[in-house]
Amino acid sequence: MTGGPITVAGVTVEPGSRRDLAPATSESYTGDRTTLPMAAINGAEDGPRVFVTAAVHGDELNGIETCRQLLDVLDPATLRGAIVVVPIVNVLGVQIGSRYLPDRRDLNRSFPGSHTGSMAARIARLVLDEVIDGSDVGIDLHTAANHRTNVPQVRVVLEDAAARSLATTFGAPFVLSAKLRPGSLRAVAAERGVPVLTYEGGGPLRFDTDAIDVSLRGTLRVLQRLGMIDEAPEPAHPHPMVLHESRWLRAARGGLLELQCGIGDLVLAGEPLWSTASPLGAERASVDAEEDGYIIGATTLPLVQPGQALLHIALPGDRVPAEDDPTDEEDNDPEGVDRD
Ligand SMILES: [Zn+2]
Repeated sequence: MTGGPITVAGVTVEPGSRRDLAPATSESYTGDRTTLPMAAINGAEDGPRVFVTAAVHGDELNGIETCRQLLDVLDPATLRGAIVVVPIVNVLGVQIGSRYLPDRRDLNRSFPGSHTGSMAARIARLVLDEVIDGSDVGIDLHTAANHRTNVPQVRVVLEDAAARSLATTFGAPFVLSAKLRPGSLRAVAAERGVPVLTYEGGGPLRFDTDAIDVSLRGTLRVLQRLGMIDEAPEPAHPHPMVLHESRWLRAARGGLLELQCGIGDLVLAGEPLWSTASPLGAERASVDAEEDGYIIGATTLPLVQPGQALLHIALPGDRVPAEDDPTDEEDNDPEGVDRD
């Protein structure tokens, strides 16, 4: 079956073709147009519509490269359905290397936005109207926040069976239960019946080749699962672990930090997690795991203060058997900086 033309941001994209668009989001101080570059690919045949977004947080760069590599391999002539790819949602944040927009607003707390609101609100509204609405599935690519790194993981509401199933298909080592944050892209999409996989991998302001590879494979695997492409790479991890409960472990003492575990590690109760020492060499603290858990995120700072979140640890969950499966709920996160 041949799909019909689609319209994205006022531009018609014929079946079997790709159009690169740059709809206006607002204006700069100098009165120049600020735009939101995106690629709209309309497959030759009918199928679902998917969006891929990255750099909603302007210092989270891995997804930008994932989008570039994805666009390199997608072929409108063989695609079934349509894909809209937005490699940099927070263009102004990326320009200044910041998670936030120049006015300090968090774009991922600004949905659904409005056409007459702040810069963040206008960008959010454009993304909602032109990218999210009308889609069947979305993939939103993130990294850990400032001074942190995350093992590749897909965050979803596990009770959403469709999202959960796609999350395990993605093939990241972990699928993490994460409730919907008000104002986030994922929450607003969910209200409209569009399940979104939020991918977290690596840290900010760099390209992490492993995290990029996992997300490219995962995105292609989801497209294949939806019947949009014929071939997809092997999953980075064929048996993801579904994690229901996680929390941040914080430093009790300040000092120089030595982590004794790495992200992705399974740490058993009683095994060492970290130690801290004073600059003069006196040991301040030596902390062991109280229970078994997977290290899914960690600080990258060598110096710590009391109360600082050091390790994001998840209770062991369910290993996904072959293609699919899982189970049930819960939430995570420290002071908000690691929220998608
Ligand atoms: Zn983010």
